[in-house]
Amino acid sequence: MAAPAKAELAGKDRSMWNVVDTHTDALLRLSDDAPRLLNDRHINEAGLRSGGAALIAFAAFTDAAAQGTPSLPLGLKLVDRYWRMTEAYADWMAPVASMAQYEQARAAGKVGALLTIEGGGILQGDLAVLRLLHRLGARMFSLTWSNTTELGCGCASPEDTGLTPLGFSAVEECNRLGIILDVSHLSDKGFWQLLEHSRQPVAASHSDARALCPDQKRDLTDEMLKALGAAGGYVGVNYCHPFLTNSGDVPAALEDVVRHIEHMAEYAGVAHVGIGTDYDGIPAAPKGLEDCSTYPRVAEALLKRGWAEEDVKGIMGENFLRLFAEVCG
Ligand SMILES: [Zn+2]
Repeated sequence: MAAPAKAELAGKDRSMWNVVDTHTDALLRLSDDAPRLLNDRHINEAGLRSGGAALIAFAAFTDAAAQGTPSLPLGLKLVDRYWRMTEAYADWMAPVASMAQYEQARAAGKVGALLTIEGGGILQGDLAVLRLLHRLGARMFSLTWSNTTELGCGCASPEDTGLTPLGFSAVEECNRLGIILDVSHLSDKGFWQLLEHSRQPVAASHSDARALCPDQKRDLTDEMLKALGAAGGYVGVNYCHPFLTNSGDVPAALEDVVRHIEHMAEYAGVAHVGIGTDYDGIPAAPKGLEDCSTYPRVAEALLKRGWAEEDVKGIMGENFLRLFAEVCG
């Protein structure tokens, strides 16, 4: 399908895109007193309500070493913020833990909020915590942040020994419960072990293409992208500028995000790529993508480059929703 003409686009409701963002750190920015999405944050109330947002992942980031608090109480505090935030915004936001809840939320004109867990340290070595997090609504889980946990090595671990026996058990438990396994931040060896061991397709909720940024171990190689796509998985483009431009000193822009989307679509397949901004976790947003009100600009940029509207819809959200439906039901 050819790209629609400009006039045709302008007449369309921005909400036509049903935007899914598979990773944000907005929970870290909320205050415990009043868990509100303030307008000076990347993820803010006005932007979510105007930018076509359909489903936003709110990550409970639980790495103890990075934050100086034990992972489990820290993680539970963030899960509590998620629930209090969705209660405070019940008139326009709804917690989503299944496809049926997603559809209900959209039918009511609400933005869906998906609870995800970033960093397996929260389990403190006990899969009982994973089962309880599932009961609390968590539907995506990463075995590690960049550090080493009881479950395996993250991408910054000094030595890459991959997954631990408990890590393999956590993969099986996620498969059984219906939790999407998230390979962003995992070490290279851990990535391949997890992909081989999981019975379900997996996601890289917020990662970019390493071929374009060879120094970034947070990004995925072409071989990883190919394997992830071939296994029915998903990768969401991360807006963090070193992962996009390969340098902490080179600011990123919308064009860099598009470049990574196109590269990842070439290797993983166009039906396996989406958006996982890392908003509120990255120090600065790319130029042109300053906050969550700008989601539709990615779609507009892809259309301008001749992308078919169906493929753009996939990138903006439908590609993740297919995986979500398959794993979480
Ligand atoms: Zn992250």
